[in-house]
Amino acid sequence: MPMTHSTNADWLARSQAAVWHPCTQMQHHARPDSPAYLPLVPIARGQGAWLFDFEGKRYLDGISSWWTNVFGHANPRINAVLKEQLETLEHVMLAGFTHQPVVELSERLSALTGGALGHAFYASDGASATEIALKMSFHYWRNVGRPEKAEFLCLAGSYHGETVGALAVTDVAIFKDAYAPLVRAATVIPSPDFRLGEAGESPADVARRAAAALESHLEQHGERIAALIVEPLVQGAAGMAMYDPEYLRLARQLCDRHEVHLICDEIAVGCGRTGTFFAHEQAGIRPDLMCLSKGISGGYLPLSIVLCSDTIYGAFLDDSVARAFLHSHSYTGNPLACRAALATLDIFEQDDVIATNRDKAQRLGDALAPLANHPQVRHLRQRGMIAAFDVATDDPHFSRKFYRAALDREALIRPIGNTVYVMPPYIVSDEEIGHLGKTITEALNDALSI
Ligand SMILES: *Cc1c(COP(=O)(O)O)cnc(C)c1O
Repeated sequence: MPMTHSTNADWLARSQAAVWHPCTQMQHHARPDSPAYLPLVPIARGQGAWLFDFEGKRYLDGISSWWTNVFGHANPRINAVLKEQLETLEHVMLAGFTHQPVVELSERLSALTGGALGHAFYASDGASATEIALKMSFHYWRNVGRPEKAEFLCLAGSYHGETVGALAVTDVAIFKDAYAPLVRAATVIPSPDFRLGEAGESPADVARRAAAALESHLEQHGERIAALIVEPLVQGAAGMAMYDPEYLRLARQLCDRHEVHLICDEIAVGCGRTGTFFAHEQAGIRPDLMCLSKGISGGYLPLSIVLCSDTIYGAFLDDSVARAFLHSHSYTGNPLACRAALATLDIFEQDDVIATNRDKAQRLGDALAPLANHPQVRHLRQRGMIAAFDVATDDPHFSRKFYRAALDREALIRPIGNTVYVMPPYIVSDEEIGHLGKTITEALNDALSI
């Protein structure tokens, strides 16, 4: 690599000066004397589950680079497919034109839903997929003569993206509060998060209680509601809040009864993350609309997709342009991103990833199991390739301290508040899982100064 002359310090200083980093108080990178100081980590290259800086230090990517990477960095199989696509067609507009990768990807995603969601609409990021799903639902009801159905429901603690439209259905204070005056907020209904269980309640009981709240809301206001949007099984940004599939079964029944669309946001939990290709499969249901992004391109390129049913699609067919879904992005259906997604789906098939991940998830669980006895660990939990626990501490700097302690031990693990979680790429080896387990235990004691 010709970059070997640069040092971490060069890139750190230049990035701090010129790049405005996401979800970041930039001053925390700039002031080493601040208790909240966090140095930027310049990355030169990636290989498999590892990221390398400019001075040879390495980090195990324990959170799949913000939940996107599924088959490792610089994956040779995805690289080969992308190189070939680069020489063939890098991009063409999708209005009025079409191409092989977008057709094949749409067909394969439809097949993965058993044909239930047979129409694929494309964008580049998750928040746009959320907005597309909301707009489609709203416009569907208008097209079928029910314009009063124009409101949305989301779960407490939900996260569906941070653009102004997506914030309407996002219920995470740090993302939402500052912009509340800009947002037409949806109604927030109780979450089925199993941690809310009272003494003697099982996770399924908590799910039934949350569904009862949904039911009474729909009984009163169902006439005005277009859709309920959920993150199936795991509410990621809420702090890996997990819940029983019973909630999805009941929500599906209630949405049917009250003629409300069910939107499954599978942006984080899709692509095998929870143990099935789509998380909603574990409830034996299908949504009316589904959002995909993050892992679908293997973590390579910005790509998002909204899949919908024949019924929804059919309501837009008419000679009138105004009844069409008039939404577009410049890079809609980008061929490179679609090929990355096709290469990702090929690996799922060829390597029987859903089956092999079962063993891997088991080993991940085994590696973290001893933490259940740690005096400050609460609610150790796991769903497929996501494992998490909460830490009982009043230290407002816990998350930063843990993150730095993990980096010092060659692992990228970035807690959400007091919730520590791992969500590794599926190519992670037994040895690497062991490294994650060891790092978490040591970083925890370090951050808590035990
Ligand atoms: C990340 C995420 C989004 C937003 O995706 P972006 O590409 O970051 O806009 C939406 N919903 C869920 C569940 C997510 O995890």
